[in-house]
Amino acid sequence: MQGGEKQFAQIVIPSPLKEPLTYAIPPSLQDGLKIGMRVLVPLGNRKVIGVVVDFLSETPLKEVREILDILDEEPILDASLLQLNHWISKYYLSPIGEVLATILPSSLRTAGQRIILPRPGEFRVAGELERKILEEVQKKRGKVTIKTLARRFPGGGFYRALHRLASMGAVEIRERQIRKQIKKIAVKERSGEGPPEDSEKLCLTPEQQGALHAVAERLQKGGFETFLLYGVTGSGKTEIYLRAMELVRRAQKRSLILIPEISLTPQLLDRLQERFPDRVGVLHSALTSSERWTQWRHILNGNVDVVVGARSAVFAPVPNLGLLVVDEEHDSSYKQEEGVRYHARDLAVVRGKLLGCPVLLGSATPAIESFENCRQGRYQLLELTHRVEKRSLPHVEAVDLRTNLKGERREATGLFSHQLKEALQENYARGQQSLIFLNRRGYASFLQCRLCGFVLRCSHCSVTMTFHLKQQSVFCHHCGFRRPVRDLCPACGNLTLSRIGFGTEQVEQELFRLIPRARIARMDRDTTRTRGSQERLIRQWEKGEIDVLVGTQMITKGHDVTGVTLVGAILADLSLNLPDFRAAERTFQLLSQVSGRAGRGKEAGKVIIQTYTPDHYTFQHVITHDYKGFFASEIEFRRALNYPPFSRLVHLRVEGTKAQEVEAKAKMLVKGLRDRHKRDRKILEKIEILGPAPAPIEKLRSRYRWQVLIKGEKGPSLLEFANQAREILPPSRITRLYIDVDPYNML
Ligand code: ADP
Ligand code: ZN
Repeated sequence: MQGGEKQFAQIVIPSPLKEPLTYAIPPSLQDGLKIGMRVLVPLGNRKVIGVVVDFLSETPLKEVREILDILDEEPILDASLLQLNHWISKYYLSPIGEVLATILPSSLRTAGQRIILPRPGEFRVAGELERKILEEVQKKRGKVTIKTLARRFPGGGFYRALHRLASMGAVEIRERQIRKQIKKIAVKERSGEGPPEDSEKLCLTPEQQGALHAVAERLQKGGFETFLLYGVTGSGKTEIYLRAMELVRRAQKRSLILIPEISLTPQLLDRLQERFPDRVGVLHSALTSSERWTQWRHILNGNVDVVVGARSAVFAPVPNLGLLVVDEEHDSSYKQEEGVRYHARDLAVVRGKLLGCPVLLGSATPAIESFENCRQGRYQLLELTHRVEKRSLPHVEAVDLRTNLKGERREATGLFSHQLKEALQENYARGQQSLIFLNRRGYASFLQCRLCGFVLRCSHCSVTMTFHLKQQSVFCHHCGFRRPVRDLCPACGNLTLSRIGFGTEQVEQELFRLIPRARIARMDRDTTRTRGSQERLIRQWEKGEIDVLVGTQMITKGHDVTGVTLVGAILADLSLNLPDFRAAERTFQLLSQVSGRAGRGKEAGKVIIQTYTPDHYTFQHVITHDYKGFFASEIEFRRALNYPPFSRLVHLRVEGTKAQEVEAKAKMLVKGLRDRHKRDRKILEKIEILGPAPAPIEKLRSRYRWQVLIKGEKGPSLLEFANQAREILPPSRITRLYIDVDPYNML
């Protein structure tokens, strides 16, 4: 605050505005208004919600409009969250209002209803449902809310169809403001009963004790510090999180724990609820907006001691926060890939720093960046090198697909080597569970005509479409576009379309043939679409009601099921061959994580990895469970090519519906950047501009995409430099510019 009196307020509105706006505070509102509260303000001829970030005693502005109303009784964002908001805006080069919109749950920023408006133009709509929705929206001319419309189209698929219409630009979804809406949630006192005493619980291993001790010491001393808990799979990391969180609770503070995806780890939720009965708040993407709002209010009122959630829970308004935990800190789901492209693990560290409290990151396969931070002394490394109760890590072997398929023992199937096949049958015969991993869903990767060579591609994206047997259709895995197919080639009309490549659906089919009596299930995005289906599958798996579970990377994470003694990877090279400097790191993580599901009970585990490149350093280190060896090879590769963590990347993408315009704008962008580049010699030495070039997926959802990569030394000058892109290419109707700092996905 700059003056004693609060005459004016700086207000951030959740919209793409760069700066806060100034409003006058009418005398009637002066007493009640505090920083961090929401207010209703006029903007143009609309009324919108904003959040007060500062007070001013004067303003040079001539015409200042008045705040209309206060919407909260207490601030909904505390000082540290407002600071975080500001930090994100600077670091991720995003308008401050857009960051606020990312932080606030939608029901808090709109106090209203979402309405759907038709957009001018002719649109080719793929599905029947989309066509009907579009007709209805056009008939109603903006007078229909999503809620009303959803009721008209029961039976599933409505929201996805609407989303597709919105992403192709046929409809627009807008917020309609309604009156003040304040609901109260009572403050709940802590019950006298605490969690079970230490004596009733597991006895920690010496390594666990050491790790917990380091965190406990920091908690006691106070202040910020980041720990990286690097512990092999099944070494008892979760137990350390829980104990540290108990210490925090005893000190009358609260903890926040981030996990990659809640539906994948119902076990962790059980354990939290057991340790903190009635005091756990949960935030995740499957909540409806009113459920999310309720959780938010509970957290804000201090009704819970522990908040658990996925990526966006890093913004949870936890009062008196004393510890942030990030489980599986290497997981790429912490990276937000739309809107403000933040990384939740990195933000957890920033939030800890702003608050002055410790941050505990944990993983069996730490991100290269995080481990390097330990080497540099920025994070403290805590290690758990053994599994609990002297259980051994599984035996891992690579099967060379080249010799295997040539070999005399090749059987009727091309997906399973004889080693994997025999191991599976044997494991089933012994009554044990097996996990089969392939990171691609569907039945066949694509369809190609054997006569004319035609390949079926998506009409909206520059990718091939994947064949799904059950639906007898091809699907675009990027935009969801679907069309039914037979064996008839659409180009030459012959019955010569053949299925090339394979996915989890085909693996499942082959398993039915291989072990006909086994209970086989599949877990991928196709089998987990309905609410609760994923949790149901995991629970069945936990209870041993499934013998063989086949799936995509969904099955690699988290679960601790003791009956699993065999893990097979059908084609481990898949993720290695992506055009991405993190390809080896991701492959190492996926395979180590999926291997880590084996042998968690009394029986030892076995892992079979099928690959065409068994000598690649990634597989060699997976086989020997040697993360540090992998890190040593990988970090040299990063250093040689000056990739992160040795440099920082900023990814710029230009998108639009007209190919030529997009290309021209991308070239203009690079020219503009280079011109500025030339003027400043100091920057010239530190920054490389790569591109422009068409994105690997050149067209996505009917939009063309070009990209530019800026690479340079870490520090503010790189960010300042990249930020000029917004001036060179201001928002226009034809093209849009997306900026991604520390990008993960550059397809
Ligand atoms: P991680 O998170 O490292 O994969 P978990 O924390 O899930 O490992 O621990 C794996 C299993 O071992 C869990 O069932 C947990 O209850 C158990 N466990 C953890 N610590 C101990 C211990 N000190 N003694 C015995 N069992 C333990
Ligand atoms: Zn598509």
